[in-house]
Amino acid sequence: MRTGSARYLSAVKVLLIEDEPELRRSIRTYLQGEGFVVDSANDFPTAHEKTTQYIYDAVLVDITLPKGNGLDVVRELRAKHPTTGIIIISAKGSLDDKVRGLDLGADDYLPKPFHLPELVARLRALIRRKRFDGNTAIELDELRIVPEDKLVEVHGQRVDLTIMQFDLLLFLVANKDRVLSRTAIVEHVWGDMAERLDHDGFLYSHMKNLRKKLLEKGCRDRIQTVYGLGYRLSTRA
Ligand code: CA
Repeated sequence: MRTGSARYLSAVKVLLIEDEPELRRSIRTYLQGEGFVVDSANDFPTAHEKTTQYIYDAVLVDITLPKGNGLDVVRELRAKHPTTGIIIISAKGSLDDKVRGLDLGADDYLPKPFHLPELVARLRALIRRKRFDGNTAIELDELRIVPEDKLVEVHGQRVDLTIMQFDLLLFLVANKDRVLSRTAIVEHVWGDMAERLDHDGFLYSHMKNLRKKLLEKGCRDRIQTVYGLGYRLSTRA
């Protein structure tokens, strides 16, 4: 594991859907220790609410849940957020559940009990695959980003960004051509800190500086403000 990737993964947001309190705690603590931002849900209604409200990089979902079924979470998520990675974590070792889960659009299936380092390895591989089609560099004509090295170039010239500007750009690129609400961006990039921020002012100034730095190097004006809604990074600009 290269040192750069842990930093890059620090902005990765995961939803853990698990009703066993002990297991939920241990997975959550372990993932946080590995630098993930972790949100959790202990039943179906909470899982439904969170996946409706926020955009996650990955969701870990148990199948047998209070007040519902994890497979329904998979079905809903796949329809709403095709770029979210889904790993089913389930004690139900039946082949049926596995096949149904993968049929519904889950990306991976990890039977319980499992080792936490294996979960993390699969999570990292999945996120890399999902976000950037498995490529180490993302290229949009003049703009090139190497997430693991925190490198951004425009026409081959390095752009110096702060970590927050870099995370913002990566989130916009991962969701290119889609409008992202201010709330979704703030929640994603700043995680739990978001509650204490003056959202609009904070995001506005970071976005303005990011845009300015890219334009200065000759990047096309790709970051668009969508009035009343949020921001979008356009591949066609
Ligand atoms: Ca369960």
